[in-house]
Amino acid sequence: MAASRTGTATYLRNRRRVLTQARADGLTHCPGYVGHPCGRELDWDTPLLPNSAEADHIVPPKFGGTDNIDNLTPLCRACNVTKGDGTRVPIEAPTAEDFPVTRDWFAG
Ligand SMILES: [Zn+2]
Repeated sequence: MAASRTGTATYLRNRRRVLTQARADGLTHCPGYVGHPCGRELDWDTPLLPNSAEADHIVPPKFGGTDNIDNLTPLCRACNVTKGDGTRVPIEAPTAEDFPVTRDWFAG
């Protein structure tokens, strides 16, 4: 089993640098990610809250993304968790063909 890459020394060091830099740049609200605007006000100091600032991998490690600063971006925890590793796809509504379209089956 491959070791988790999210806890590497490189990631932890760069995570801190990315968040410190973003905070110094005046970022106050989560920018969200592609297709998912956010705007939640970031909490820089408290971990594990929905609005805690985290460093998200732009390209997920499982797709070859690195722990380098240029692959990390600030994101709130809620966005980070929702985004996951990029493999979670939106749940599509079932099509009508998946269900009986008349109530005959129910008329027992
Ligand atoms: Zn967010």
